[in-house]
Amino acid sequence: MKKTKKIVAHKRPFHVMIIPTLGCPSSCSYCWSSDERSPIMTIETVKEMVHWLREFRDDPVTFTFHGGEPLLAGADFYREALALITEGLRPRKIAFALQTNLWKMTPEMASVLAEYQIPIGSSIDGPKDLNDLQRSAGYFDKTMAGYRVAKEHGLSVQFICTFTSTSIDKKEEIFNFFLENGLTMKLHPALPSLKSDDPDKWALPPEKYGELLVYLLDKYLENMDKIEVRNINDLCRCVFTGRGTVCTYVDCMDDTFAVGPDGSIYPCYRFVGMPEWVMGNIRDRPSQADLAGSGAGRRMQEFKRRVDVACKGCRHLRYCRGGCPYNAIAPSGGELLGVDPHCVAYKRIFDEIADRFNKEIFGSFPMGPTCLPTEPPRGGKPGITALIQKIVSS
Ligand code: SF4
Ligand code: SF4
Repeated sequence: MKKTKKIVAHKRPFHVMIIPTLGCPSSCSYCWSSDERSPIMTIETVKEMVHWLREFRDDPVTFTFHGGEPLLAGADFYREALALITEGLRPRKIAFALQTNLWKMTPEMASVLAEYQIPIGSSIDGPKDLNDLQRSAGYFDKTMAGYRVAKEHGLSVQFICTFTSTSIDKKEEIFNFFLENGLTMKLHPALPSLKSDDPDKWALPPEKYGELLVYLLDKYLENMDKIEVRNINDLCRCVFTGRGTVCTYVDCMDDTFAVGPDGSIYPCYRFVGMPEWVMGNIRDRPSQADLAGSGAGRRMQEFKRRVDVACKGCRHLRYCRGGCPYNAIAPSGGELLGVDPHCVAYKRIFDEIADRFNKEIFGSFPMGPTCLPTEPPRGGKPGITALIQKIVSS
């Protein structure tokens, strides 16, 4: 009898950001996302979200708790919410992550999160004085206190460093802070705040952001065995694999959603609290097509079309995809007028990595077992290929 080939449908993982509240006990100068009037998500809303997701898609899903400050929801919320989600979506593959300033990290909270081995992202902008100047007085000590509690409970914590128009002049000090404290570095450029009267005050101009990335690339290559710079790893991976490896460099619109405290669904956490970006509500159990057909959904698809036109001919289009749609609307007060203005920075760093990579590959470095040159030329510094070697083998 002739064997028929079984067709296996591939699962497409997606990402749901849960925003338990937009409230936050800190008042960072450049923050664009907190809102002190924001309610806190109820457990009823979590139950509704689980019902919605059961029907919505059966793909593997990663949940990231984000804010505002998500730990304001309290340990009981997490105890119940994590169990409801895990049980309610069985047997599919589920992962969790959490982005917090750690101020509310108590031993009880840490125990709940440790049960699910939730990796934590937190934020520190460099040494104490510099951090507190652009975040808020007392921030550094409160975050470090929470960090110690998290570490005592075996939680993994990595810090995001926001570079602003002010802190960019202290980039060496900031890099050394991460290096000397043995911390993995991930960076964000400060964006214009849609909620401020002076939106550009802290924003890092795209040209400066590009220079910063090249600076960090060089510093990373000099100190490769002592520090991890996550963004540089991601950028190298993009060039090396030819496809985007983090949300900024893929079409995020069909596989990323955020659920706000009241159950409203948005394209991403960055839009939460902006009524014009609501795509639907979990209580109405919208399908993927319903969300894509909403006003906000159509505007996100419009971004994709703009990228195909505006970025046509760019050598990095395949693994850049025009950057982040939120970044594109932030400088124009919420209107979609073009692609991500950080394009200048992306081109700069992608060019740098691609050109150095090509030069090393077609230059005189000795080849290693993965067909990548392993050593720099005599007397030279480690190159991109050595870094890629490190990334592939990690
Ligand atoms: S809008 Fe920007 S931050 Fe949000 S998922 Fe898309 S690329 Fe990432
Ligand atoms: S580098 Fe600029 S032009 Fe090229 S794909 Fe990215 S955003 Fe578009």
